[in-house]
Amino acid sequence: MKIAIFGAGLAGLAAAVELVDKGHSVEIYEKRKVLGGKVSVWKDSDGDSIESGLHIVFGGYEQLQSYLKRVGAEHNYKWKEHSLIYAEENGKLTVFKKANLPSPWGEVMGCLKTDFLTLRDKLSLIKGLYPAITGDEAYFRSQDGMTYSEWHRRKGASEHSLQKLWRAIALAMNFIEPNIISARPMITIFNYFGTNYTATRFAFFRKNPGDSMIEPIRQYIQSKGGRIFVDAKLSRFELNNDDTIKGAVLRDGHNIVADAYISALPVHNLKKILPPQWLAHKYFRNLHEFVGSPVINCQLWFDRKITDIDNLMFSQGTLFATFADVSITCPDDFQSGMGTANGGSVMSLVLAPAHQLLDMPNEVITDIVIEEIHNRFPKSCDARLLKSTIVKIPQSVYKAVPDVDKFRPDQISPVKNFFLAGDYTDQHYLASMEGAALSGKLVAEKLLSRFGN
Ligand SMILES: Cc1cc2nc3c(=O)[nH]c(=O)nc-3n(C[C@H](O)[C@H](O)[C@H](O)COP(=O)(O)OP(=O)(O)OC[C@H]3O[C@@H](n4cnc5c(N)ncnc54)[C@H](O)[C@@H]3O)c2cc1C
Repeated sequence: MKIAIFGAGLAGLAAAVELVDKGHSVEIYEKRKVLGGKVSVWKDSDGDSIESGLHIVFGGYEQLQSYLKRVGAEHNYKWKEHSLIYAEENGKLTVFKKANLPSPWGEVMGCLKTDFLTLRDKLSLIKGLYPAITGDEAYFRSQDGMTYSEWHRRKGASEHSLQKLWRAIALAMNFIEPNIISARPMITIFNYFGTNYTATRFAFFRKNPGDSMIEPIRQYIQSKGGRIFVDAKLSRFELNNDDTIKGAVLRDGHNIVADAYISALPVHNLKKILPPQWLAHKYFRNLHEFVGSPVINCQLWFDRKITDIDNLMFSQGTLFATFADVSITCPDDFQSGMGTANGGSVMSLVLAPAHQLLDMPNEVITDIVIEEIHNRFPKSCDARLLKSTIVKIPQSVYKAVPDVDKFRPDQISPVKNFFLAGDYTDQHYLASMEGAALSGKLVAEKLLSRFGN
């Protein structure tokens, strides 16, 4: 079969890996000049890597890790110590470290030993989160009608633990506050956290997600005959009388004809090009339930090390919610002699919630972030800032607000030769690299089974 895939984020690339492996003729059309979508990385004029966003791999990402293995990139990421590190005011760091015991005892002991929670917080957390630890998929789904804050309060868990511990996790997962995110994804994560020790550990790419993951996937697809076109934006579909796709028209007027068409576009881009006839189907109308979360990634290059933490860090009360010194966490990039990196820290910071920041000038945002960094890492007050970058993504992953999960579309659409991949489609993970990878695998399987392969 000839299969055209639109969008070279992880979802489109994962679908391509599956389909070239089955011997199909695959063509990928990507709007930008760089592959990877939300995990894309490019070089600035100094040769430094600029990330769309700081990315970590979770231990539970089985599909993503299996792709990394398949394309020969299984050694391109590095596990970190299993702990949650919070950067506090005046340079203080507090740590939630799982004890070396089977789940959930490792987490219970970790919680009891943590010094930034009061005894009341700890007891209310252990009691309150119990339903999440023992719950199953049906229970998680049933909790999708309320926000996480509502769920947390109903379970009697303390307000302090909500603000101190879980707010940062909500911002890290979906870039929205706990009083906006649905309870469902949060308690699903608690379940992983409390039942499977290895599922919640973090790894960083040894270089960056572009060089360590997207590039090996690109090479794999092309080595198997897949063709990838960049600067190739899908503009519209032309339809047959039965509303199936006759051809796909690119921005430059090229007409693509294939046996099957996969959209691996983000949902907000897909909505713009849906033929009006298709809106007769609830399946396509439901896509309008999804709204993207705004997020910003900021990178700061300092002339010396301002921290020695080799891990992801969380912070609350600052513009940045999660961050890392990538000169430490990513040992094969951001090092001395690479671009402007000179042995100093390279902080990569995810700013969320970002809706109020999108229209602010980059210099203003950077100044606030630097001020906050001085507070969290006092050593930085003596350091010289060499360079900074800001990447704004007005619509990134879809907002996992209450009652939206049920609208996530199946990869098979009502149009016989049209299929969907993407982190927002129906798979058991939230929008994430694993969700995108799973959607790629599912779309390939469902497409082939619809065509009797
Ligand atoms: C700041 C940030 C940090 C994140 N951190 C993590 C993390 O630590 N761990 C994790 O698991 N996930 C993380 N994520 C989420 C993760 O990046 C996404 O869930 C995942 O990469 C989405 O993949 P996708 O293929 O579904 O979509 P995308 O990556 O959005 O890919 C869609 C592609 O379609 C292309 N496209 C759009 N319109 C057209 C068109 N008309 N024609 C052709 N091509 C088009 C786009 O350019 C893009 O390349 C993070 C995201 C952000 C923004």
